[in-house]
Amino acid sequence: MRNKSNFLVIISVILMISLCFSSFFIFLLANHIYNDASMINGTGLIRGSIQRIVKLELSQSKENNIKSDQQIQSTDDLIKQLKASKWAKAGKYTISFDQLSNSWTEIKILIADHRQNPILSNKQAVMDKSEIIWRESNIMVDNAQFESEKKVSSFNSLLSLFLVNIFLIIVIIIFLRSYVQKNLEIAANHDPLTKIYNRAFLYGFLNKILKDMDRYPKDLSIITFDIDHFKKVNDTFGHGTGDLVLKELVKIISDSIRSSDVFARIGGEEFLIAASNTDLQGAMTLSENIRSRVDQNKFTEAGHITISLGVTIYKKGDTIDDLFKRSDVALYKAKSNGRNRTEFE
Ligand code: GH3
Ligand code: MG
Ligand code: MG
Repeated sequence: MRNKSNFLVIISVILMISLCFSSFFIFLLANHIYNDASMINGTGLIRGSIQRIVKLELSQSKENNIKSDQQIQSTDDLIKQLKASKWAKAGKYTISFDQLSNSWTEIKILIADHRQNPILSNKQAVMDKSEIIWRESNIMVDNAQFESEKKVSSFNSLLSLFLVNIFLIIVIIIFLRSYVQKNLEIAANHDPLTKIYNRAFLYGFLNKILKDMDRYPKDLSIITFDIDHFKKVNDTFGHGTGDLVLKELVKIISDSIRSSDVFARIGGEEFLIAASNTDLQGAMTLSENIRSRVDQNKFTEAGHITISLGVTIYKKGDTIDDLFKRSDVALYKAKSNGRNRTEFE
């Protein structure tokens, strides 16, 4: 289970890293796509502007010359503004923005020549240059569109990856949440050393059983037991060996009881078995069976260990405390009658 959670944590970390990378590249691509879009717009505007200027110039009216001057001014401003933008500096397109900008400078000279001297050859030169600019800006727009389409396709793939990552992270978070919740519940109900139920769980369990006793009466036996002279084990072999004895003892008992019996650690070296549907005779047999198994076992380092047991059975109207008190009295009897034995109260 722990390995599983480690695995999930590693997967989550990988997904988080992949999420960071995909977010970063999505941001980068979005930026590039935005640049391409402004390039397509800017170049389109320049292309249209120049066509208008040429049309106005070739009409050779004073009024149109004024309009043309205004258009030239705004095109100059636009080119200056675009020249400063990132994509214009990138220069990775087959026709660079500088080239277009140079052509613009050249056509301005040709326009000025034509205005001074509107002969056919000057007119032709303006028209030829305007055609060249048209072609250049067309190539730039085509290039940008092609580049942009490639980026949009990468953008879509990254976005899908990003969404899948988010989905997986959510699934893992939900799983880890329920896993942590389950572990917390286990920790609240179990003894950390021996992993069997603790006193809190036992109280809850007995409470429920006693509540149902009136409606569904049944036999219930309580066996409390305690390790004999356990202090000596700790003093002689150390606390580590003492812990080992507790674990080995729990293993022996767990192997001796039914799955319906509830086995809990209620104190340092004190345990309790609540056996449903078990009468006095059954409880005494179980108790003696446990006692002799422990008696015959050779514990690691500690060797021979014995336990004393106190048995009681449920009587109508008993509370949990009544049951605990009676089984404690029985256990005390077993201790004072020489230990390594079972007594009933
Ligand atoms: P008795 O036969 O009368 O029960 O004698 P005892 O020595 O077993 O009883 P006592 O109550 O004097 O000592 C209980 C000892 O159990 C003392 C305590 O250090 C030890 N103990 C309690 N919990 C743990 C534990 O988790 N680990 C270990 N190693 N020892 C524990
Ligand atoms: Mg003891
Ligand atoms: Mg004790």
